[in-house]
Amino acid sequence: MKLYAERILLADGWTADKTIIIEQGIITDIVSGKQDDAQMVNGPVIPGMVNCHSHAFQRAFAGFSEQGSEGQDSFWTWRKIMYQFLAQLTDKDAKVIAKQLYIEMLKMGYTRVAEFHYLHHDIDGSPYSEVENTNGLASMAQAIFDAAKESGIGLTMLPVLYQYSGFGEQAPTVGQKRFINTVSQFNDLVTDCHKLSKSYRNTNVGIAPHSLRAVDKSSLQAAVKHVRNLDKNAPIHIHISEQQKEVDDCLAYYGKRPVQWLLDNIEVDEHWCFIHATHIDDNEREEMVAKKVIAGICPTTEANLGDGIFPTTEFMAQNGTIAIGSDSHISVNPVEELRWLEYVQRLIKQQRAILANNQQVSVGLNLWQQAAQGGAQSTNANTGILAVGKQADLLVLSAEQSHVFAHSDQHLMDSFVFASQQNSIKDVMVNGDWVIQSSRHKEQQESEQHFAKLLKRLSK
Ligand SMILES: [Zn+2]
Repeated sequence: MKLYAERILLADGWTADKTIIIEQGIITDIVSGKQDDAQMVNGPVIPGMVNCHSHAFQRAFAGFSEQGSEGQDSFWTWRKIMYQFLAQLTDKDAKVIAKQLYIEMLKMGYTRVAEFHYLHHDIDGSPYSEVENTNGLASMAQAIFDAAKESGIGLTMLPVLYQYSGFGEQAPTVGQKRFINTVSQFNDLVTDCHKLSKSYRNTNVGIAPHSLRAVDKSSLQAAVKHVRNLDKNAPIHIHISEQQKEVDDCLAYYGKRPVQWLLDNIEVDEHWCFIHATHIDDNEREEMVAKKVIAGICPTTEANLGDGIFPTTEFMAQNGTIAIGSDSHISVNPVEELRWLEYVQRLIKQQRAILANNQQVSVGLNLWQQAAQGGAQSTNANTGILAVGKQADLLVLSAEQSHVFAHSDQHLMDSFVFASQQNSIKDVMVNGDWVIQSSRHKEQQESEQHFAKLLKRLSK
């Protein structure tokens, strides 16, 4: 396949008048001028975004827990609603939700997602029974693989190790029964996902120890060892220091802050992604950068949950690598994540245009490129940038919409990230296939109907 673009965003910036040659999903050449047999794209071309953090099933209750009253902790409202949903949600439902979510992600410009997958078992908490390809532990994971396949999004499956309800190996609560595995069950699940991944295009597998409060040290070590035997570069993601209480509990139990404890006790590398490393001190921040750990930031969810603010300015100023995630899916829009990422820093520092640098003065362009490349690193995927040898994961922006905002090379990404009032993405290609054309997914209508029906049942 050949695509002709009048404008395309490559690693070193915008360039004009290029034919992109794609074979088996990979960009094999980018040449000047229009080749006769090239398909013309109608708008500027940019790399697809990677979503580094998703809990797909949580999409079903986005919007159900925004009601507060004086003296009421709204977290409990959220948790009550989550348990109400979980008490009814089957593996078939999980697929309906994930498919709808992944179609929404594609339409908004995410071409790959890291699924932090912790809903493993049947409604009563027992593992699903054996099915054709797996011993039943991976039934829910398979639902996610199927949803990714039918939507066309790239998937990094991160099965979650979840053992305890708090530091000190506290017994899990009844509400957590669908999440819990022993470490040997968990390693079997990871092996099964690894096998499954081979029959689904554009997928890979890592792991996600849920958090330091939900796993113990020896299980964490065993899980890391197992997945790295299957794939030495497997991504490893963990929730860490999301709330101040978690830091306090970790200090009380381990005598160290969570990020510090992890850095001191487990060998981490550039395939580790710390999700919500919100509450870190200067030493922890500097050590994360030195060890090339990625900061997985979920600005809209962190704002929605009232978590706090990651020190993005200082982290990026030291060349730390960031990725963005939609986490609870209160927003499924990378533009909104990046806007929040920049705006909270402006509000704290009372300055403007913060997350840019001397090499790249455009905040919009800098954040898009860095988050896409950091996201690719966090999923160990061959994406995040448009270059020869990379996957053809790309977005075509609407020429009509671009023209009514500042759209020179210098300003286009700033307009896209900060000034656009509606979705500017018209066409989306993943791994060489068009999955969104003229703002539509071919299974969008059917998916929406199934999802709406499910939502009605779950929220009764
Ligand atoms: Zn999360």
